[in-house]
Amino acid sequence: MSGRRAGGPGPATDTGTGVDSGAPGFVSHMPAALEEARAAAARHETPVGAVIVDPATGAPVARAGNRTRERADPTAHAEILAIREACAALGSERLPGLDLWVTLEPCAMCAGAIAAARIRRVYYGAGDPKSGGVDNGARVFAHPQAHHAPEVYSGIAEAECAALLRAFFAARRRA
Ligand SMILES: [Zn+2]
Repeated sequence: MSGRRAGGPGPATDTGTGVDSGAPGFVSHMPAALEEARAAAARHETPVGAVIVDPATGAPVARAGNRTRERADPTAHAEILAIREACAALGSERLPGLDLWVTLEPCAMCAGAIAAARIRRVYYGAGDPKSGGVDNGARVFAHPQAHHAPEVYSGIAEAECAALLRAFFAARRRA
């Protein structure tokens, strides 16, 4: 899928393995998000991982995977945990200029948090017709009430992100 909505030097396609050929110097941080997603799967959590990066330095500020079961907390999605960690690290309730990489299309709750945090760009892997709230469902950033809409780039390492989720749910059905 190609849900790219904004112009600018973003990845049109990306293998998730490193530098995007379309934008010189552009580095994908989806491999780190995928690492977090795999770690979540190992904890028997839905395999979604997120990384928040300062594009000025390329340094990751926070990274997290889902922990809803472990914490008995329906809000403990990867994006929420990464935003909390980044805000705590920077001592700020907002993260302007920072980018969020996540393996799955954010849900409406996470999209609301992303808008509140004033994240600059969202790069996500697989679309989520069932629970996504960016290009599906509530389309939070397109809503007139959205105070801030990040640039959104979808389909980054999509096959790998989706395969991880499919394998997880297939194994759960077999269990
Ligand atoms: Zn979410």
